[in-house]
Amino acid sequence: MAERNVRKLPDPVLRQQALPVTRFGAYLDKLLDDMLETMYATDGVGLAAPQIGISKRLVVIDVGEGPIYLVNPKIIESEGEAWAIEGCLSIPEKIGKVKRAQRVVVEALNPQQELIQVEGEGLLARAFQHEIDHLDGCLFIDRATELYDNYPDEDQEDTTLGEA
Ligand code: ZN
Repeated sequence: MAERNVRKLPDPVLRQQALPVTRFGAYLDKLLDDMLETMYATDGVGLAAPQIGISKRLVVIDVGEGPIYLVNPKIIESEGEAWAIEGCLSIPEKIGKVKRAQRVVVEALNPQQELIQVEGEGLLARAFQHEIDHLDGCLFIDRATELYDNYPDEDQEDTTLGEA
């Protein structure tokens, strides 16, 4: 595994519509491993491939319950609404208040190219929505109703989605 460099605004790759993954096997497995390592190294709870400069529809998430790999994910059900403060590894200087669905169901392929459905509530649902937004070039600052300066050295226990 190798840690990759996290792309930050104004890197244009963060604003592109990412392409579906069509190639499976060793290349994809290596890429997902690198994404996971990069996410853990930067204390993130989620990472989308565009954040390491690869404009493909790939997401890794770990909200403390083990890694989830999503290839070509889409939200097929969403319910309720929840407000929380979000941050993003690609926009380290800002955090913001964002409304998301409280519960979502995501359909995706796993790395073995099998169709899966994953349900998430609360923080996990938020991570799904934040990361899938990245695949469409959408960032939390586009959705935030209030933005604040972030001070990365300070305790962020009050944020529900640290960095993603
Ligand atoms: Zn993000």
